[in-house]
Amino acid sequence: MNRFLIPLIAIFLVFASSLASAETPWKAGAAATIITPEKPMWMAGYGGRKAPADGKFTELWAKALVLEDAAGKRGVIITLDLVGIDRAATGKICEQLKTQHNLTRDQIVICTSHTHSGPVVGQNLGPLHYMNVDAEQKKLIDEYAATLQKKIIELVGAAIDSAEPATVQWGSGKATFAVNRRENKPYTEVPEKRNRGELKGPVDHDVPVLSVRDTEGKLRAVLFGYACHATTIGLQKWSGDYPGYAQIEIEKMHPDCVALFWAGCGGDQNPLPRRSVELAEIYGAELAEAVEEVLTAPMPTLPAKLSTNYSETDLELAGLPSKNDLDSTAKSTSIFEAARAKHLLRQMEKKGAIDGSYPYPITGWKIGGEIDFIALGGEVVVDYAVRIKRERSDEKTWVAGYANDVMAYIPSLRVLKEGGYEGGTSNVYYGLPGLWSEAVEETILKAVHEVLPK
Ligand SMILES: [Zn+2]
Repeated sequence: MNRFLIPLIAIFLVFASSLASAETPWKAGAAATIITPEKPMWMAGYGGRKAPADGKFTELWAKALVLEDAAGKRGVIITLDLVGIDRAATGKICEQLKTQHNLTRDQIVICTSHTHSGPVVGQNLGPLHYMNVDAEQKKLIDEYAATLQKKIIELVGAAIDSAEPATVQWGSGKATFAVNRRENKPYTEVPEKRNRGELKGPVDHDVPVLSVRDTEGKLRAVLFGYACHATTIGLQKWSGDYPGYAQIEIEKMHPDCVALFWAGCGGDQNPLPRRSVELAEIYGAELAEAVEEVLTAPMPTLPAKLSTNYSETDLELAGLPSKNDLDSTAKSTSIFEAARAKHLLRQMEKKGAIDGSYPYPITGWKIGGEIDFIALGGEVVVDYAVRIKRERSDEKTWVAGYANDVMAYIPSLRVLKEGGYEGGTSNVYYGLPGLWSEAVEETILKAVHEVLPK
């Protein structure tokens, strides 16, 4: 072959592929299915409830958005109006998605809204719920978990089947109802302090938005996030809480659109004031309005390029109890402490020892070569979002918490040292044996930058 021809071919190939990525659009599809329990099941999130749900304020939804880039690479984001999900359930869902749709672990992100008005999700928060309910409730919880899994697999299939050429754009808005719940007690003083501009502590008020439009410009899907606990309502009826109302509002404004919500690093953020359905509707409307503002302004278009990665990093636990400690705690008058001790004794019996670390999941996607979408497990406190955005590219860095496996609160080193509920006393409700070690923040940060190189 002519010695000049090879470089010429190479140049042509580079040119052709850049032309292809500029001209070949995304393919995208979205689907939604109701996951409101049909039977009077136990509700998740609060330890004080004494009875199952007795009705509903809204439906609960599972939704899926499938993005396919110019090279045919797919990613699926599944959002659930649920308090959380555990490692076992996610593992089963991902296995099935591999078998049925050839999706690998890195191509799947499962996000939960952390609504405290949804059902108990399998053995997630075991010592708080599953281990303390009667046999009849356990049966309903198991049945619900199996049905949920089946519905999610069908849902992803429907989203893939509906995929069509699309334009994907991004933007970022603001909503200000999230309050740092550790720094602004008592909550009754929050409205006054807000008026005087005296609220304290770190917050993340960003509302990242990804829009999907068809070739005619019609909005087909909106993916948006916010970092705040979905604890506006604490009653006995199913509800998506503020994220549920926000999704309903957006879908009312755009009837053929699927609105999907992911929770950010809101582990230490509450919607305040709270405790009424009306407030949940107000916050939902405020969030929907922030999304709408982004949608009506010019939005940058993302080229059809997607890269996906996933890793599990071992997070160390500190201060593990001995068998003697557990034997005596198993007799505790605190039903939660006793349930955790029994759970750990079973683990000790089965494995010979208590797990001294936890396989912590991190998904990192680069969307359109511009947006870093990072999905972290657990109830991540806001310090992580603030730091990760600062170390990367601010509004183009989107950090979800409550993703893939909600195994505990994830404190920053600051919050861990300060202690309190998010610092580690809440670990009892998740069945973890001790506190996270002081390496927690640096271990996660290092893993984040490895999963998705800057
Ligand atoms: Zn929480």
